[in-house]
Amino acid sequence: MRIALGGITHEANTFCPRAADMSSFEARQLARGDEILANWQRTGTEQAGAMSVFSSQPRCQVIPTLLARALSSAPVEEKTFRRLLDELVERVHAAQPVDGVLLVLHGAMMSEAEPDATGEVLARVRAAVGPGVPVVGTLDLHANVTERMLREATALIGYHTAPHVDMFETGQKAARMLVETIEGRITPAAALVRLPMLLPPENSTHNWGPLSEVIHMALEMEREGALLHGGIYPVQPWMDTADVAASVVAITDGDPAAARGRAMELARVFWARRGEFTSELVPPDQAVRRALARPPRTVILCDSADATTSGSTGDSTVVLRALLRAVPFEGTALANVVDPGAVARAIEAGIGSTVTVRVGGGLAPETFAPLSFTGYVKTLSDGTFTFKGPGMRGVPHHMGRTAVLVQDGIHLAVMERGVSQWDPQLYRSLGLEPADARMVQVKSPMAFRAAYEGLYDEVIVVAAPGAASPQLASLPWQHLPRPIYPLDPETAWP
Ligand SMILES: [Zn+2]
Repeated sequence: MRIALGGITHEANTFCPRAADMSSFEARQLARGDEILANWQRTGTEQAGAMSVFSSQPRCQVIPTLLARALSSAPVEEKTFRRLLDELVERVHAAQPVDGVLLVLHGAMMSEAEPDATGEVLARVRAAVGPGVPVVGTLDLHANVTERMLREATALIGYHTAPHVDMFETGQKAARMLVETIEGRITPAAALVRLPMLLPPENSTHNWGPLSEVIHMALEMEREGALLHGGIYPVQPWMDTADVAASVVAITDGDPAAARGRAMELARVFWARRGEFTSELVPPDQAVRRALARPPRTVILCDSADATTSGSTGDSTVVLRALLRAVPFEGTALANVVDPGAVARAIEAGIGSTVTVRVGGGLAPETFAPLSFTGYVKTLSDGTFTFKGPGMRGVPHHMGRTAVLVQDGIHLAVMERGVSQWDPQLYRSLGLEPADARMVQVKSPMAFRAAYEGLYDEVIVVAAPGAASPQLASLPWQHLPRPIYPLDPETAWP
């Protein structure tokens, strides 16, 4: 059995002013051929999970092709998307004959010209291998699943967790489904039900609340044997495009009508819970006051509106400004901002000196205002660290050259590039311990909760502007299909 393995993974946020280009993939992951397996086999990733299944199969040969992953941003620059896709397809071609293809995808990728870029990847790979070869894709929970994606793939397997901690297991499930399909033991039959709603992620988890109920229903259907897979997709809600929706994908063994019935059953519950996804948002100054009101404890200031994993730029100064207004306070606060110019000045000044820099607002100047920060240069780093938490464990991350500037109790990490903030290793790699701080700014809506588990006493979601704002009605929508919930509260379905 010969399997081609590859994929292109990106999550689009059309409110972000910065597109992903080739350097965005190079900074996160751009692996070719054997590099994919050599560097990633021991990680908590889809490809590692898939490999754990393939390597246990007798006479299974995996041909690694191209695996590209970038941090969320505006849609991928068209020439970058086409170059990556052409290379992926060429490598799949070169791998032929293959019995199956496994693609690591996100499902909410857009390019500048192609709103359904994941559908385009699946269509091109499908055309390369022909209609008879199974193509199975993995998806993030925040995928925007389209009819085209469903048509071009043999099966699509999504995460069942938020915070995302089941990449490895998702890769395993997809690999098993691919192998069983190739061996003729199953015939996946999928049904997609799309729901006209966008849901903010702050209260969207498999651990509690409305999403957990729907996910657990899907898992129960899998356990009963009614479904091979029940995918629940609340969608990345910052895609201003005509074809965006939350969705359910139910996959049965050869029974399209049953798949449709189960998908509708799940979709009805999902839809009925749509009003329960909002969370309390606290204005920045009030959030800092609340955090300082009851010492000693650690409070996460969840700056989800500037979440880099949701497609914001990471250069917001809204929380930093509130911290500066609150000084002096007892204890420390950890904060971060993307600003390559300020990093350069801190490096020039050197460790132990004091510098005054303007930080923030450089990438999204229309949304974020820069501010002046005078700090003691405590630490300089190359900005490389490895995730140790349950999501993407073992995966290296690169925030570029990074400086820690200290003013009063504020330890500000200034970095050259935005980076996923799921893991406290971001701060620890700079000698800062979140568990010892009174306030920790984290630019992530939900996913940080897995690796930060046990380190904090409270999470306060800050009401702030940003491309990833949970205040969806505040964003300048132009292309969205209307009516859609919650922008149009009276939206009816089905
Ligand atoms: Zn996600």
